[in-house]
Amino acid sequence: MVWLLSLVILLPTACVLWFMTQAMQNERLAVQQKLVDVYQGQLTALRDQLDGHWARRVEALAEMARSMPASQVFVECLDSDLADSVIVFDDKGERAYPRASGHVAVEDSAEAGAWAQASRLERLPGELLAAAEAYAGIAERSMDANQAARARVAQARCLVRSDQTDVAIEILTQTLARDEFKHAVDLQGRLIVADAELRALQLMGGPGHGEFAATAKRLRSRLLDYTDQVMSSAQRRFLMKQWRVLVTDGPVFTNLQAEELAARRVESDASPTTSTSTDIHLSVLPDVWELPAADGRVLALYETESLRRRIHELTAAKALPADVVVEVLAPGQEPSGQTPVVSVAGARMPGWRLSLSISDRSLFDASAERQITAYLWTGALAIAATLAMAVLIAWAVRRQIRVARLKNDLVATVSHELKTPLASMRLLIDTLLDADQFDSQKAREYLHLISRENTRLSRLIENFLTFSRLEQNRYAFDVAEVPPMDIVDAAAAAVRDRFQSPGCRFDIEAAPGLPLVVGDPDALVTAVVNLLDNAYKYSNDDKHIVLSAFASNGHVCFKVRDNGIGISRGGGKRVFKRFYQVDQQLSGVSHGCGLGLSIVYAIVTAHGGTVSLTSEPGRGSTFTISVPAKPGAPASPPKARSDAQ
Ligand code: ADP
Repeated sequence: MVWLLSLVILLPTACVLWFMTQAMQNERLAVQQKLVDVYQGQLTALRDQLDGHWARRVEALAEMARSMPASQVFVECLDSDLADSVIVFDDKGERAYPRASGHVAVEDSAEAGAWAQASRLERLPGELLAAAEAYAGIAERSMDANQAARARVAQARCLVRSDQTDVAIEILTQTLARDEFKHAVDLQGRLIVADAELRALQLMGGPGHGEFAATAKRLRSRLLDYTDQVMSSAQRRFLMKQWRVLVTDGPVFTNLQAEELAARRVESDASPTTSTSTDIHLSVLPDVWELPAADGRVLALYETESLRRRIHELTAAKALPADVVVEVLAPGQEPSGQTPVVSVAGARMPGWRLSLSISDRSLFDASAERQITAYLWTGALAIAATLAMAVLIAWAVRRQIRVARLKNDLVATVSHELKTPLASMRLLIDTLLDADQFDSQKAREYLHLISRENTRLSRLIENFLTFSRLEQNRYAFDVAEVPPMDIVDAAAAAVRDRFQSPGCRFDIEAAPGLPLVVGDPDALVTAVVNLLDNAYKYSNDDKHIVLSAFASNGHVCFKVRDNGIGISRGGGKRVFKRFYQVDQQLSGVSHGCGLGLSIVYAIVTAHGGTVSLTSEPGRGSTFTISVPAKPGAPASPPKARSDAQ
């Protein structure tokens, strides 16, 4: 039985626990999957936005290349921060910026002799001023601005060597600043005026010279003037760097880095426009990415860090949940922080990835925890329900067993108890019938005995019926307000015949003016009679039984005292249980079926009362029934007497 119940509890509990753990694990995975799905969607949308951004940028670059000169495209891209640097091509696919060299000057053959003569003088010691004169003559005669400018530069050079620096500076800064020399280039294609200004700055020796600041300013604005198509990128870079060396406190050239980057790219690959893809891909330089514009007119260049920063700024501008961290990962780069939840590859940026991780994983866990708590509660409730069911089943089973046992006991007791009086009556009747002559004295005596057995039988059956009704809760108590003396009288009347036998003294002690009791008079009489019966049964030949009634603490008490065999302390606790009988083999008394006191107990408790026992083995017992008196009830008329036989 116990192991069966344990199984009934343990098996479902184990199942529930197993299901709970599974459910909790699944919940964690499900929450994670849900988040992954959500974030995957967000990240993909982000990636698409980025792709859109690059597509628009490609378009903007192409449009720029169509609408403005190459050098301006370059500077415009930088000003608009479209790229770290750009290489611009013309419509024939030729590199337009940065250019390798400008327009190369062609030697004027008409002045070839004069050039040779001036050069020879320049090399001769002490002929520098003559050489300067010769160069000046060429400059004045020549119709070619390039040649004239070159001659002025040579004149200045000779003057410097012959310590006429101020005159040289004047030629470099004033003469060559004339409009006619604005686009003059040397034999290498370099813009002469820009070089001349740098040389002048060097000759001035620093800001102490009166013309230094103005010349530096003029050269700086020339270097930043991208509308001038003559100056080559290489010359511009060189002059920018030199300018910074000379003008130590001057501002930096923000374009210089871009110029350098473009130059590096060009140097590493002379024909960088071969790619027709519009993806951002790694250039021949290890750390430089390039994005060709749609028609191949512009190649935007990005350094890895700059590209990452740009993408990061774009992604940071997008609305994402606060707990989410998006990292931009260059090819081969691993995420730095938390393990990413999802990552997507860039469609227009092969190799690049956007990785999304959750900064505050407690939020992620909290979401799962909430569900898990719900599961735990459900599991706990299921286990509690199983336990309750098991208890209920155990109770029902026990009840069934008890009823079955009760039935068995009842059948056994009834048959045994009925057998005895019936057998006695039959014996007496048979004896009478078998007698040859009718002896009226003997017949009267036998009939008297038969009558007693009959009464006993009736009482037995009455008790069985009462017990059966009480057990099934079918005993209908007919409640009324009863004077206690009525109960005493009825009970005394029921036993009087028997109690009048020799060797039995029966006293009734009733206190005067007892209050009424509310109860079923017949049931209460049955209870008192049962006590009187027991007092009679369990007393020896010299019986003295006292029935008393008195009031106490708002109750009316019916007390039955005998001088019988008494009940041991152990037995006294259990006598009110059904079918319980004290082992009385020693005393030799064995009557009844163990139901009398249980009936008394059931009746009295149904009336809201109590029944108590005091007893001493060998000296007698006292049973006291106590039932509540009717509150404020008028006392019943006093009736005090003592019945003694
Ligand atoms: P039974 O039909 O056996 O008398 P009861 O329920 O009336 O059943 O009594 C239970 C047991 O209590 C009896 O078997 C008896 O041993 C003991 N008992 C009851 N009343 C007395 C009493 N007045 N004196 C001694 N023993 C008693």
